[in-house]
Amino acid sequence: MIPSKDAAPLMPATTDALPVMESFFTLQGEGAWTGTPAWFVRLAGCHVGCTWCDVKESWDASVHPERTIQSLVDEARATRAPIAVITGGEPTRHDLRALSEGLHSAGLRVHLETAGTGPITGHFDWITLSPKKFLLPLGENYARADELKIIAANEHDFRWANEQARLVSPACRLYLQAEWEKRERMYPRIITFLREHPHWCISVQTHKYLGVD
Ligand code: SF4
Repeated sequence: MIPSKDAAPLMPATTDALPVMESFFTLQGEGAWTGTPAWFVRLAGCHVGCTWCDVKESWDASVHPERTIQSLVDEARATRAPIAVITGGEPTRHDLRALSEGLHSAGLRVHLETAGTGPITGHFDWITLSPKKFLLPLGENYARADELKIIAANEHDFRWANEQARLVSPACRLYLQAEWEKRERMYPRIITFLREHPHWCISVQTHKYLGVD
């Protein structure tokens, strides 16, 4: 399915429930919080259309059941994970206020992983902004990023990464991560780039190397 780029946000009539592709307790494998146990919820619905997307089954929200906010919060609390990570799909398709508030009330840090194509609703302790060339973030979302994660699949992505880095705050941490299918070629290139641009860091999908779901 090729998603429509100009599709309106999927903000539900009620925030009591959200379409969920999956939720699971695992390790955060990427970026600044690598290695931290984390409960993930993958909200359904994405209109970005990355050609290399490894969760294309998340794109169509209508094929995924809605889960109540309360059931998600109860599940997250039961794991005793220190962090809840809201991802997608593209989570800014949804109103995240009730979910973020519920998770905070349960005592978890609440992190958001987003391409930033829609307005960010809710309160977050950490926002990972992962811009995609296929559909750029809203300008207002760059300033809210705690970490910028660029997926490198080719040489042009390095120049684009530096362009994107100029849009975030000085405190934002910068990460380059290889597209998984091209990792053998791209990680040596990322390491070379880091030597030339030492304000960047490398992000490795450690959970995949460890075989952790
Ligand atoms: S933004 Fe994420 S979920 Fe959406 S197409 Fe791109 S990689 Fe897939």
